[in-house]
Amino acid sequence: MSTPKCPICGRPAAPRPGNRAFPFCSDRCKLIDLGKWLGEEYRIPGPRAGDGADAPARPEEREDDEP
Ligand SMILES: [Zn+2]
Repeated sequence: MSTPKCPICGRPAAPRPGNRAFPFCSDRCKLIDLGKWLGEEYRIPGPRAGDGADAPARPEEREDDEP
């Protein structure tokens, strides 16, 4: 098994027993990743419009509700 790389800095990330920040190499990189999430730099790969959900796929049409 190869050592996984930290997705933030690319350095080898130590395995979990001794690295509570896994899969990051350190708490610092873990916090950087968290900051990216909070800043919405990352897109959450969740369900998209047209994926079976009945959420409005075309927000523009909602303007029809206005008089
Ligand atoms: Zn790192």
